[in-house]
Amino acid sequence: MAGTQGKQVTPKHLGIKNNAPQQNVCTIGTRQLIEIMTRDFEIDGITLQVDKEATENFYLTEKKITDNCGCDDCSFYANIWIKQPFEIFPMLEEMGVDLGKNLSSEPTGVWCIRDENGQLIHFEQVYRVFGTINSEDRKEIRYLRVKNNYEIKAKFIQYKSDCVDIELTFGPAADEKE
Ligand SMILES: [Zn+2]
Repeated sequence: MAGTQGKQVTPKHLGIKNNAPQQNVCTIGTRQLIEIMTRDFEIDGITLQVDKEATENFYLTEKKITDNCGCDDCSFYANIWIKQPFEIFPMLEEMGVDLGKNLSSEPTGVWCIRDENGQLIHFEQVYRVFGTINSEDRKEIRYLRVKNNYEIKAKFIQYKSDCVDIELTFGPAADEKE
């Protein structure tokens, strides 16, 4: 499984705060009913509270991209691209996402365009985490970075009460602003 090489990768860049897991325990009388581990990620000034275990469990039953599609672009994505040093990938893994899998609603592989030299030009993929955007008025968080001449955009959208979809795109950047 991706990202489980015994090394804890913690995103620590601009605006992203990955706090230690919080343990929320609800008790009635002396009996413990619910125990949920959540992690807070601060993105664009808003806190996304993620249930990593629920996200991991969800991905257990999803299909591998390279099983759904045998094209070179999908294999490039799964074997090379997600190992590139962009903070978004370890951050998604830290939320419980399995980067090598598709959502069953998107069974056609990733959208990945490369030039004749094999360089990535454009890439899009949708991920899902279980959790909530902690904001009274916003149901969407926007992440934007520029790195290695790519503009990296992610939209975190609360699409159900306990579920956040993430639309990630890579495209060419006009200039580098680290
Ligand atoms: Zn493919």
